[in-house]
Amino acid sequence: MSQPRHPALSAADPELAALVGAEERLQADTLRLIPSENYVSAAVLEAGGTVLQNKYSEGYAGRRYYEGQQVIDQVERLAVGRAKAVFGAEHANVQPYSGSPANLAVYLAFAEPGDTVMGMALPMGGHLTHGWGVSATGKWFRGVQYGVRADTGVTDLDEVRDLARRERPKVIFCGGTAVPRVIDFPAFAEIAREVGAVLVADIAHIAGLVAGGAHPSPVGHADVVSTTTHKTLRGPRGAILMAREEHAKAVDKAVFPGLQGGPHNQTTAAIAVALHEAAQPSFREYAHGVVANARALAEALLARGFDLVSGGTDNHLILMDLTGKDVPGKVAAKALDRAGIVVNYNTVPFDPRKPFDPSGLRIGTPSLTSRGLGTAHMPVVAEWIDRGVTAARAGDEETLAKIRAEVADLMAAHPAPGLPMA
Ligand SMILES: *Cc1c(COP(=O)(O)O)cnc(C)c1O
Repeated sequence: MSQPRHPALSAADPELAALVGAEERLQADTLRLIPSENYVSAAVLEAGGTVLQNKYSEGYAGRRYYEGQQVIDQVERLAVGRAKAVFGAEHANVQPYSGSPANLAVYLAFAEPGDTVMGMALPMGGHLTHGWGVSATGKWFRGVQYGVRADTGVTDLDEVRDLARRERPKVIFCGGTAVPRVIDFPAFAEIAREVGAVLVADIAHIAGLVAGGAHPSPVGHADVVSTTTHKTLRGPRGAILMAREEHAKAVDKAVFPGLQGGPHNQTTAAIAVALHEAAQPSFREYAHGVVANARALAEALLARGFDLVSGGTDNHLILMDLTGKDVPGKVAAKALDRAGIVVNYNTVPFDPRKPFDPSGLRIGTPSLTSRGLGTAHMPVVAEWIDRGVTAARAGDEETLAKIRAEVADLMAAHPAPGLPMA
């Protein structure tokens, strides 16, 4: 028998090791189109599984509440320095546990409970943490929300300005989770300046594109930049807050001691590795490849008669409106999953259906680009989606099984970083 991939884990806890192995298999064999997911490198995986996780280090480098920080301080300084270099930021904090706590720290830094805050509405493509009602950010603050125009599917900045003038928010968020078009950071900055609001650019989804020069950067426009590290940036699950120097203290104080205790040092290390990778020329190729693939996939889907919100994409993400295909998003998503194509069902702007059973599918190209698929593959991907959606409507399980086999063949020819070969 060959050596198990995780020998200590397999010996100590075969039950859990088997589950890890099954997930590795699933990620290797399927076409993963969820735009917020990716494949991290083996180096990032290794850094995240080190003894750095044994260390408590509340505070910041040089100012800790625990001793024994000779090494951890260097790890965190490395990550901070790389974040500043990759994004050109004046200040970076790499401690937020994930994107949601990072955003919560921003509220803590710049608003008081009950203050008015502004962001894009969740069903329009915004994130829960941008003041949506079910989120703490919508319960503890007065969230006012902008959307997109019904005719264009794109945010109308005149409407954003009108809303900001009327509501006078303390904090304005731009960015979102289902925004297929370029975010106009200078325009948002002008609006925020006019009403005296702090502008937060939440680039969780597009950070890798920004780092790789495939999307304009908010640095220099936004007061604070919030990002996760695990989406297009291709790092571990975590987050970074960046800010102008004038806001550095407020951001740091909000993350610790305001919101969190000890940072996850193994994650900090893996973030440092991911940022090192993001500084390489090959990462620029990846970032531009993600966008080229998304554009090619959008074109191929349009050619097959699919309706795309905003008519296409400028980034890594495509929002498909299945209303005209007469199949609910959830039914299509579950059928595609059986066909080895992993997507998520999503609301489309002005969706007549319910959020838990909406009309859309949200897809994206980061993961397939990380596996080396290129624009020449996108017509095939579009064909699988088309056949899969048609099969979903017809309840045609045979076709779904056939697609699954075809997908597995292509995936076997494009091994994923950090995963077992076929
Ligand atoms: C993913 C995401 C977040 C939240 O990140 P988590 O790590 O899931 O907490 C916040 N904002 C935006 C725009 C996101 O896409």
